[in-house]
Amino acid sequence: MLEKTVLYFKLAAYILNIIREELGRATRTAWVHRRARWLGPPAPPSRDRNIVIIGASFAGNRVAQLLTTCLPPNSPYKVVVIEPNSHFQFSWVLPRLCVVEEHENKAFIPYGGNVHDNPAGVLRWVKDRVVDVTEAGVQLQESGETIQYDILVIATGSGVEKGLPSRVNATDKREGMELMRNVQRAIKTANTVLVVGGGAAGVEVATDAQNLYPSKRVILVHSRDAVMNRFGEGLQKAALEGLQSLGVEVILQDRLIQDASRSGSILLKSGREIQCDLVVDCTGQQPSSGILSKLSPASISTSGHLQVKPTLQLADGKFPNVYACGDVADTKTPNPNARSAMRQASIVADNVLLTATGRKPQYKYENSWSDGVIKLTLGLTKSVTHYGDGKSELLFPGKETDEALMAAMCWSRMGQKPFDDPYMGAESDGSIIKAIA
Ligand SMILES: Cc1cc2nc3c(=O)[nH]c(=O)nc-3n(C[C@H](O)[C@H](O)[C@H](O)COP(=O)(O)OP(=O)(O)OC[C@H]3O[C@@H](n4cnc5c(N)ncnc54)[C@H](O)[C@@H]3O)c2cc1C
Repeated sequence: MLEKTVLYFKLAAYILNIIREELGRATRTAWVHRRARWLGPPAPPSRDRNIVIIGASFAGNRVAQLLTTCLPPNSPYKVVVIEPNSHFQFSWVLPRLCVVEEHENKAFIPYGGNVHDNPAGVLRWVKDRVVDVTEAGVQLQESGETIQYDILVIATGSGVEKGLPSRVNATDKREGMELMRNVQRAIKTANTVLVVGGGAAGVEVATDAQNLYPSKRVILVHSRDAVMNRFGEGLQKAALEGLQSLGVEVILQDRLIQDASRSGSILLKSGREIQCDLVVDCTGQQPSSGILSKLSPASISTSGHLQVKPTLQLADGKFPNVYACGDVADTKTPNPNARSAMRQASIVADNVLLTATGRKPQYKYENSWSDGVIKLTLGLTKSVTHYGDGKSELLFPGKETDEALMAAMCWSRMGQKPFDDPYMGAESDGSIIKAIA
């Protein structure tokens, strides 16, 4: 009981701290803008030094947002963002929108709502992929251009080979939406769906599929002895109950070794053969660190993450001007997520600002238990939010009414009107929660 009370206090302190940090930033940004008005913006050609950011998801977009708003108006630096995707891909809703139809548009948020070229010349946005990093520059895949950097931020995150439901693996929004519809159709037409992986994505896909199609057989296979094994026992139990109450069959401590689902069956390591016509793989996230394999192979850990100092500079002392943050960085975060990625992004931005004004990086990243908060959906209308500090857990069961979950909030946070995308024209916004409730 006492531990839970302490956890409530810690949670309140965490929320207050976020508010304090945001207010501090807003004040600082207002001051930079006021100074820009007093002094007048510099001529764009004067910004001839580059802060290059590779990747513009939670981490990279946040670094870009903070730097473009906080760089002093007379700074010689500009921010160059390199990102291959046409839109910000909102990972949180991918499992849901691979099951539920008619909301695909919502997972792809237009860029440009909260990172602006203001004052003029502070931002260059490049839609391309970095294929190599050298001591002085980054090389682009499509244009072949090499962009020099004075300061480099690597925010390339993580990926999966097989794509959806975990990652889109397409750079264009329309193509990504079509891939999503393919998964929806496959689930809709399958008789037996085998979901592999009992982390958040696997649990969410399995519960959504079973909830939406109650007459289907949905099986979840997980190699560990509990689903959501990286979290506390309370969440593990709640997730298992959520799965089983909908009718999902859960197989633990086993793994898929042969996928012949196209011919109607799969084989598990235990020797068990299951008749099934669709496998949905929710495993295999890997850090996207390959672009540094020539420049600093020693920085890549055995897990594929980039090793960093507490300042989030690369651990390799030869490159003090190279930073890494988000899923690609080895920060020992127990459950890397968007919150930890964005907190790391703030540390990187603060240190880059120090460097860009001739000072030494001094801000250090520390893991916080509170970053590990997770909201797990358990079918279309139920969720559980979990806070845990390793000693105690708080669980808050919730009722969900929005099929697209937090997509609208993310559009707003990205500075966009939900779900208005000129790239798409008018799109339908179906709703089936109301129909099944
Ligand atoms: C299915 C799923 C659900 C999730 N749900 C939640 C949730 O509910 N809450 C939560 O907090 N977290 C959630 N997460 C975790 C969260 O999405 C990640 O922690 C977060 O996306 C990490 O952000 P990032 O910016 O480090 O990397 P990523 O989001 O992986 O983005 C990396 C970016 O870098 C770009 N990039 C990669 N390589 C290159 C290159 N060579 N050149 C240029 N650009 C490149 C990519 O295109 C991408 O835009 C979820 C993750 C998944 C997969």
